[in-house]
Amino acid sequence: MTKIIECKYCSGTGKDPFDLLSAISECLVCNGNGQVNIQEPSVPCIYCLGSGRNPLGARVTCIVCGGKGNNHCESNTKCIQCKGTGKSSDGLPCTRCKGVGFSK
Ligand SMILES: [Zn+2]
Ligand SMILES: [Zn+2]
Ligand SMILES: [Zn+2]
Repeated sequence: MTKIIECKYCSGTGKDPFDLLSAISECLVCNGNGQVNIQEPSVPCIYCLGSGRNPLGARVTCIVCGGKGNNHCESNTKCIQCKGTGKSSDGLPCTRCKGVGFSK
């Protein structure tokens, strides 16, 4: 099942929020639509706190959610390795839950 949500990376504007290619370039996450499809069930991306932006480098998309700000997640059990933060001690996505923060 899929659901349509506002693209978090561009905040629904459809424009590249950082003008990486040009000031009028389209958002690479939603292809300029301002909306993206996500797989249900989903949870807000804990790794980027739902912003869609990579917390390690603010001008690129989040490597966990790909910029959508949400992740498909079947589990509602917090990952025991990262304790639900989605991050390893080095700041990279947790290897167990892949940065989602939930893991069976
Ligand atoms: Zn977008
Ligand atoms: Zn994310
Ligand atoms: Zn984890």
